[in-house]
Amino acid sequence: MSPLFIYGRYRKLVRDIPQTRWPCRTCMGKGCERCSFTGKMYQTSVQEIVGDPIQAVAEGTDHFFHGRGREDIDARMLGNGRPFVIEIREPKKRNLDLGSLENLINESGKDRIEVIGLRPSSREEVRKTKTASPNKTYRVVVTVHGIVDEAKLNEVLQSFKRTRITQQTPVRVSHRRADLAREREIVDLHLEEIGEGSFTLVLRTEAGTYVKEFVHGDNGRTRPNLSEALGAPCEVRSLDVIEVNDDTSEE
Ligand SMILES: [Zn+2]
Repeated sequence: MSPLFIYGRYRKLVRDIPQTRWPCRTCMGKGCERCSFTGKMYQTSVQEIVGDPIQAVAEGTDHFFHGRGREDIDARMLGNGRPFVIEIREPKKRNLDLGSLENLINESGKDRIEVIGLRPSSREEVRKTKTASPNKTYRVVVTVHGIVDEAKLNEVLQSFKRTRITQQTPVRVSHRRADLAREREIVDLHLEEIGEGSFTLVLRTEAGTYVKEFVHGDNGRTRPNLSEALGAPCEVRSLDVIEVNDDTSEE
C-alpha cells in the first residue's frame, strides 16, 4: 500500500522541542531509567504533534517527517512557518478532512506547535522539500562582553552585507559531521534593538549557515565573524527563525 503524503507549514512557538522523534541514546527506544522509560530524549516533537493525529485518523501504522531544513532545538520557528511533508505509512483511509485535522492538531499543540495550509502532497514533493535550500531570516539576541557603541556596531553590520564567510564544521556538531570548511553567504543583516550588554539582530543567511558560530566565531573556525569584527566577544542568547524564504521554483 503506498503511503499518504500531506504538505503543510509549521510554526514552533516554544524552545526545546525537536523537529523529529528522538529515541533515547542509552536504550535506543526500549525504555530505561535515563529516559524515565519513555524511550525518548524529548517528550514530544513537531513530528509527533503533527503526525500522531493524522496517523490516527488515517488509521496508518507509522509516520515520517520531511522538513525543509530544520532549526536548532532551542530555536523557535516563527513567521510564515517551515514547509514540511508528513508521510503516513499503510493508511486505511486516504480521503481526510484536512481542515478539521488542522484544527485538531492546533488544539492539541496549543501554544507550542501550529500548522498552516495542510493539503495533499506526493513523494515527488518530499524529494523537492528535502533538496531545497531556502535562505532563512533569524532574529538573534546577542550578548556582548565589552562596550560597543551603536555607530561601530552599525558599521560592522554594514560590512557583513552580501559577504561570504568560511565555516569549519562547528565543535558542537563535530561528533556527527565530517570536519570540513564551507562557504556561506550573509545575505542581509540589520540592528533591531540595542540594550545594555546586548543587542538584537535580524539576519538573513544562505541555507546551512551556522548562525551561532558566525556570532561567537567558534575559536576562529568561522571567519570572518561578528566577535572578531567588533573586537568584543559575543554569544547568542536566543535565536528564532522568523522566515523560511520561499524558493517559488521549488513549490
Ligand atoms: Zn532510555
